[in-house]
Amino acid sequence: MSIVRLEHLTKTFGGRTAAVDDVSLSIDDGEFLVLVGPSGCGKSTILRMIAGLEEVTSGDVLIDGEPVTAWPPKQRDIAMVFQNYALYPHMTVQENMAFALKLRHVPAPQLTTQVADTAHLLGLSELLDRKPKALSGGQRQRVAMGRALVRKPRVFLLDEPLSNLDAKLRVSMRAELARLHQRYRITTVYVTHDQVEAMTLGDRIAVLDQGRLQQVGSPEELYLAP
Ligand code: ADP
Ligand code: ADP
Repeated sequence: MSIVRLEHLTKTFGGRTAAVDDVSLSIDDGEFLVLVGPSGCGKSTILRMIAGLEEVTSGDVLIDGEPVTAWPPKQRDIAMVFQNYALYPHMTVQENMAFALKLRHVPAPQLTTQVADTAHLLGLSELLDRKPKALSGGQRQRVAMGRALVRKPRVFLLDEPLSNLDAKLRVSMRAELARLHQRYRITTVYVTHDQVEAMTLGDRIAVLDQGRLQQVGSPEELYLAP
């Protein structure tokens, strides 16, 4: 069943050619979909429209079959991680991860359990008392993901989450993301300009160019395509 459905999704910024041009696409429950394409092809804009951070010019975003274009971000049960994730510097890892749950008035015992589970999942259990400045780049990125995943969103959106990491760390984080997804099957839309990342991570890959969807398929299908 498809959780997220894009129907003729289009975004135009101030009268120029469409940044996102008539994109229709379904993302299945538990799927890891990668949006790949060169810089400026509209990947971030699509994610931001799914998250509700950017208005749709025309077309629709549907979640569980419901058009959500009029819904504010908070109502969408979607979590997003950006390239330049910002952690709250004065808070510990535990507090950073608990913050979104506190805002939602999750009771303390449940909050503690959910943070502990997510920290375990991401290998952060030993770091819960640290402040961001005492963490490595990879650890910080894991905290940013933990902060997004802790509220168990229906859909997880990642916008070039590994781009700021050095090559070695990028490879290990990529493997970690793949493991995480195999284990928990959170519906994920992952944006990258990196073909290798797309091939390694994607159940399916959607190739964008100049706002248009060029092809959608499994890595095997796209790799074998002429
Ligand atoms: P990508 O994520 O693939 O790099 P973006 O979605 O960020 O691409 O951008 C797609 C196009 O839309 C680019 O031409 C970009 O300059 C333009 N764009 C993105 N955001 C805005 C904005 N807020 N105002 C004007 N143009 C924008
Ligand atoms: P990315 O390429 O990783 O998507 P950008 O650096 O292109 O990120 O964009 C960062 C921010 O600037 C986004 O919020 C985007 O909407 C905005 N932006 C991008 N292009 C333009 C533009 N041409 N005019 C105004 N804002 C833009």
